[in-house]
Amino acid sequence: MQRSHNFSAGPASLPTSVLAQAAEEMLDYQGSGMSVMEMSHRSKTFVGIAADAEADVRELFAVSDDYHVLFLQGGATGQFAGIPLNLTAPGDTMDFVDTGAWSKKAIKEAGKYCNVNVAASSSDTNYDHIPATDAWQLSTNARLLHICSNETIGGVQFQDFPSSETTLVADMSSDILSRPVDIDQFGLIYAGAQKNIGPAGLTLIIVRKDLCGSARVETPTFLDYAIQADADSMSNTPPTYSWYLAGLVFKWVKAQGGLEAMAKLNQAKADLLYSAIDNSNFFSAPVAPEARSIMNVPFTLADAAQDAEFLRRAEERGMFNLKGHRSVGGMRASIYNAVSIESVQALVSFMSEFENEHG
Ligand SMILES: *Cc1c(COP(=O)(O)O)cnc(C)c1O
Repeated sequence: MQRSHNFSAGPASLPTSVLAQAAEEMLDYQGSGMSVMEMSHRSKTFVGIAADAEADVRELFAVSDDYHVLFLQGGATGQFAGIPLNLTAPGDTMDFVDTGAWSKKAIKEAGKYCNVNVAASSSDTNYDHIPATDAWQLSTNARLLHICSNETIGGVQFQDFPSSETTLVADMSSDILSRPVDIDQFGLIYAGAQKNIGPAGLTLIIVRKDLCGSARVETPTFLDYAIQADADSMSNTPPTYSWYLAGLVFKWVKAQGGLEAMAKLNQAKADLLYSAIDNSNFFSAPVAPEARSIMNVPFTLADAAQDAEFLRRAEERGMFNLKGHRSVGGMRASIYNAVSIESVQALVSFMSEFENEHG
């Protein structure tokens, strides 16, 4: 069986061994005579799967007892509303750093529920860098400071996180599990699963316990952190199969050596691709070197008229989903945890060949 080199931005590549194990367990999960997706979420077996996944997240990130780990539905987009509903009151202010398309969506949604202050933005240069921290115009009284740790569309990533008096909140949808993160720096982090955790339908939230418990009355129950924490994220039926798959991915990350090892491998993959781009006269990367994402690598061809040919030839070689987002143009290679260095090597040698023929 030949697996594609899958550079999709999301839903994205999953480790082959994880999918193989899921296939193996599809009809009969560990002697139960049924699939995980056919089980009651109240069953002992599923409750065990769920608890294991939480324990592995806690181990991977060394999450302290001061934090809840929640497995909810509604995607990262659900949390664009969930965060202000749970953690602000009407009239409160949320500060945002606007580094790309996902920051912009978070800002727009939060604006329905509280005041938003865009403390800094790189929109005037089409989101090609992260605004310098000392130029951020923070409010004096904000409840939260929101950042997007990795902009999936623009390929811009925070290398270090700002230290801030204001409670820091981060959308880590597209770089969670790719490197170590000190959770204690944050009031809350959240991530839709379909980039680096597992199938779509699941959202991971790690939130400091003392911030929970004063959700607004109109907060939908399934988005209320305190209620969900009390119910072990099962106040209603959770996305059981996605949760199980995520659990297999957490075990896979542990088997790779944990987040330090993941970061090393991801850096090696990104270095390989960026240096191929930088050493070429045909390809270029739009993002400032110090802000380049190790997960999503946008790049352009010298002649955009050759984009279609590039994509066609790539597909002939088994390389898929390289077309860039329409707002950026060109190409984007998403090289999440499950994309192997061999896939990146295949891309790099194809690019050099294409440049020789067309450059
Ligand atoms: C994909 C993505 C989202 C949106 O996730 P949904 O699960 O579709 O709501 C939000 N933020 C970032 C950084 C993303 O990559």
